[in-house]
Amino acid sequence: MDGAYGAFFHLCPELRGLMPGLSRADSLTLDPHKGLFLPYGTGALLVRDGAALRQAHEATAGYLPGRSDGDEFYDPHLYGPELSRGFPGLRVWLCLKLYGAERFRAALAEKRALALEAAARVAAVPRIVMAAPPQVSLFAFHLRWPGSSLAEENRATELLVERVNLRNRVMLSGAVVEGRFLARVCVLSFRTRARHVAACVTDLAEEAAAVLATASA
Ligand SMILES: *Cc1c(COP(=O)(O)O)cnc(C)c1O
Repeated sequence: MDGAYGAFFHLCPELRGLMPGLSRADSLTLDPHKGLFLPYGTGALLVRDGAALRQAHEATAGYLPGRSDGDEFYDPHLYGPELSRGFPGLRVWLCLKLYGAERFRAALAEKRALALEAAARVAAVPRIVMAAPPQVSLFAFHLRWPGSSLAEENRATELLVERVNLRNRVMLSGAVVEGRFLARVCVLSFRTRARHVAACVTDLAEEAAAVLATASA
């Protein structure tokens, strides 16, 4: 199961109901560099059957040192494609030890609350249609105005994202889903606070008005 973005929100008891299938997964990808706010390159994989993972990745060669075996010795190169590798798990462990799980739980709940607030305010901007309301901390939307075609809406929404990003206060992303371009807000940086959400809503509202003035003229 792909929990790269969303699965850490499971830490928040009030969000457990959103991911009822999580406990049934045989394997789960997690990105501590997203949901735990750690530096890029901190990915994680949880598997139920470690022996199957080892079977898939274990390789031997004459030039490699002999195996240190035994159940208590975990040699990560036997469980993944890398041989010489860093130790990204250390920063996860260290941060959890230093700050405790509660701080991460609180930060995730804060980011979700900010996303909900941003979504409510963005949805109130004239001509913005909320295509995917937030489940955890992400939502997607597009522009629509009387008489607009899909192609026009796509162009206008793409332009909206470009123009908001040119203001350099927030960075929005976009994605094409089934032929429709969607603008996307995702709140998942430990530095994002209420003032950034306010800047995002202001920039979106002003740029939406500017884009619509030309698009529907
Ligand atoms: C970020 C993300 C990925 C890719 O993860 P990387 O850490 O960039 O390799 C895959 N799936 C989902 C849902 C993601 O959000």
